[in-house]
Amino acid sequence: MSQMPTETTSAAVIAELERMFAMFPDLPKEAIIKQDILRQGLAFAESALQVASGYKPKDYFIFSFDLVPLKEMQVYEAYRSPEEIRMTGGPYDLLPTIVSVRVNPDSPYRVEIHEGHISLLCEGALLARLEFPPIPDYYSAQLTSGKKISQIAPAIEWGYLVYLTVYRLCQYWGKTEECRFCDLNENYRQQKEQGREYTAVKSIEDIVEAMAFINQHDTVSRAYTVTGGSITSSLQGMKEAEWYARYADAIESRFAGRWIPKAVVQAFPKEETKLLREAGYRIYHPNFEIWDRELFSWICPGKERYVGRDEWMKRIVDAADVFGPERVIPNFVGGVEMARPHGFTEIDRAIASTTEGLEFFMSKGIIPRFTTWCPEPTSDLGRQEGPPLEYFVKLLYAWRSTFEKYNLSAPPGYGRPGVGSAEFSVSAFMDVIRVERLPKGREIAEV
Ligand code: SF4
Repeated sequence: MSQMPTETTSAAVIAELERMFAMFPDLPKEAIIKQDILRQGLAFAESALQVASGYKPKDYFIFSFDLVPLKEMQVYEAYRSPEEIRMTGGPYDLLPTIVSVRVNPDSPYRVEIHEGHISLLCEGALLARLEFPPIPDYYSAQLTSGKKISQIAPAIEWGYLVYLTVYRLCQYWGKTEECRFCDLNENYRQQKEQGREYTAVKSIEDIVEAMAFINQHDTVSRAYTVTGGSITSSLQGMKEAEWYARYADAIESRFAGRWIPKAVVQAFPKEETKLLREAGYRIYHPNFEIWDRELFSWICPGKERYVGRDEWMKRIVDAADVFGPERVIPNFVGGVEMARPHGFTEIDRAIASTTEGLEFFMSKGIIPRFTTWCPEPTSDLGRQEGPPLEYFVKLLYAWRSTFEKYNLSAPPGYGRPGVGSAEFSVSAFMDVIRVERLPKGREIAEV
């Protein structure tokens, strides 16, 4: 039975959640709360951090995804907080919902031990009981190189996805090239500064050895992502497509079909895209980050300069001929279109722009997905408030409406769709899919 939180029902955050529940009654409450947590981050009580030591920690699998830099974490949350939380129950009777952890000591969402349980409180009121993700069985393995397997092949999405950031730097460099929301290069610097083992270029040998351990000891992972920064010139004498292709080639030649192989790299000309497909990747993510033409050139100056916005979008469409449209899943950074100082200032105009992009791709069978913009303090956009919750709720609604309009299958390589089942943790797009409305017999697109 649902009941209202009792302690701080007049609190602003709860009031805004309830306003959104009322405005969009056919979106799951779980998805709305998840978006707000991703937007505002999580604070941790010392008692919760002590419990978290028995669970899978945040491995900083690519960006920092934190709202404060490591050096401002007073209780070393970077080393002690879990990768994700799973919320259940509470006053809204939530179905199990997995949310990625973004550290923000000032967040109104606070993880505490409450009545003997790990719990999520919002402005002092209980919102949900929590679980933390288990440490994968393979994490105890030791690689021959001496590197930690958790550093080479961390698991996210409650163990579903092995995340292989094989190149932790990006050759788009500095203000005139780096995507303005991105802290990949800065995060690498801060992690090294803090003494964390953080390998810039992961060797094929380490990756293959790690995947062999996972193959042997793990039954949860179903997909892997190979990704890293862009390579504008060459790396170890290779161009980007060739360099990244080698990883799937090495894994698939040993463990063909064991996982769904995914590549998150630049939008390549068709011939180079084919190299990825031939190497074994089944899913291609040429992320376009933002749809609006002018904002694209501001937010992604490197991509604009080296490829160009229209050519980038054309390459995404061309990739559908190589992978099949449902296996081309470009990401955009939900919310960055409202970044200051040049972004949209009105929610509805921002949503209209992004919906144009959703229409463009989904009408062709390509399914863009989004992550939730986290204004990372060391990125060029720096500390600023992201868009309000209403923006994200409208984005979820627009995404689902366009998705249903074209009668699309759920994207493959993203775990299960639907509220209570979704594993994807950095936005709620998988949580809002209405499973009963998916095309019969092809609920999830084939890999
Ligand atoms: S291409 Fe952009 S988002 Fe990707 S790593 Fe480089 S700067 Fe970051």
